[in-house]
Amino acid sequence: MERLILFDIDGTLTRTENGYLPFNEAIFQTFGVAGDIRTVVPDGNTDPLIVKAIFAKANVSMEINDDDWERFTAHLQSCYRRHVLQGSTTVRALPGAVELLRAFARGTGFAVSVVTGNFEVTAQVKLEAAGLFAYLSRGAYASDSAHRPDLPAIAKRRWAELSGRAIEPEQCVIIGDTPNDLAAARQNQINEATSRPGY
Ligand SMILES: [Mg+2]
Repeated sequence: MERLILFDIDGTLTRTENGYLPFNEAIFQTFGVAGDIRTVVPDGNTDPLIVKAIFAKANVSMEINDDDWERFTAHLQSCYRRHVLQGSTTVRALPGAVELLRAFARGTGFAVSVVTGNFEVTAQVKLEAAGLFAYLSRGAYASDSAHRPDLPAIAKRRWAELSGRAIEPEQCVIIGDTPNDLAAARQNQINEATSRPGY
């Protein structure tokens, strides 16, 4: 039976150092607010909800419309690219991630993709920096929905469109490092596995 493995990115496939630099810069460039991602817990959350949590923490009340999100996404992409290029932000593959994805690529019957709280553009910057981008097909991102439980179905549909083959929830496995990843799997009747024992 064919399997679709859906990986979370941050804390599951990669580890980012100083990711707050591009994130905070993008917030300031877009909204003119000196928000700080280090004041909230971003793990397992989606980027739009992280921005809202930062604003709530800073007592900033602001309506954010679609144009704002578009500008924020563009700023986040350019800030991330620049910081990664400069080496002020680093994104590395976690131990074993490259080997695991290579093994899936060599084998048959397994397809690998992502379900992540990153916007698609930043997911790409991170996966490229970590040397993992080429192994993963297009998945689902915070730019598709800020509500994480919406994402597994989107990733599943994209894979089916790409491969031309239907895939059932029981053929899918979500691998993540936070309770939110696993809750999203459960809400979609998808199998779950954690990359961090204890959850
Ligand atoms: Mg994670």
